[in-house]
Amino acid sequence: MNIILFGPPGAGKGTQAQFIVKKHNYFQLSTGNLLREEVKLKTPLGYEIEQLISNGKFASDETVNALLRKSITNLKYRDRIIFDGYPRNVKQAKNLELILAEFDQSIGHTIFLNVSKDIVEKRIMGRMTCDKCNMTLNEFFNKEQIELHPCGKDHLKKRKDDNFDVVVARYDTYMKTTKPVLDFYSNNTNFTEINGADEIEQINNKINGVLNV
Ligand code: ADP
Repeated sequence: MNIILFGPPGAGKGTQAQFIVKKHNYFQLSTGNLLREEVKLKTPLGYEIEQLISNGKFASDETVNALLRKSITNLKYRDRIIFDGYPRNVKQAKNLELILAEFDQSIGHTIFLNVSKDIVEKRIMGRMTCDKCNMTLNEFFNKEQIELHPCGKDHLKKRKDDNFDVVVARYDTYMKTTKPVLDFYSNNTNFTEINGADEIEQINNKINGVLNV
């Protein structure tokens, strides 16, 4: 079944998605990662995206939809996608339903990780992500794990848009455009809210409970 992990930037969506990927052989569809990959490829579209995300803005719906379609139609990922950080607005949510229906798929669960702005600030300021294996750690909370990281600690990089002003801008953008998406999904029976301020392992256990695995 496909799953949506929902919540503000820094809620821990990527961290939790990684657990599900490893344990259940899922595909983590992070539109942030898809967009950053395009930037790395240095295409004209990648350059446009770079300008937007380094200012804390979101990429256009058309851009995201085109990248998204590519993954949804990939048979390897069929019914095994975790949408991490998507959809971000109601238009995208409706569009996602349409694309999934077109390929005879649906969303099995929507999980909302709820956290406050002050927690988000601390987490994002310390976030480091491995450019080889995608693991997310935190320079304040995971000092030892960073030193012992199997890919080598030089692969753990800070994101360009993880600075204080951009973090605040991203959170505010989220509150304005993404929160209405909650109403769209919260009426659904497969919707669960989890306290994202809890410990990583606790959250992971709750998610496993929800997914019944
Ligand atoms: P998102 O994908 O929602 O933006 P991440 O998974 O990248 O969030 O997490 C942001 C930062 O917070 C990372 O540095 C991560 O290691 C840390 N983090 C994630 N979940 C928790 C948690 N439950 N408690 C403490 N730190 C966390």
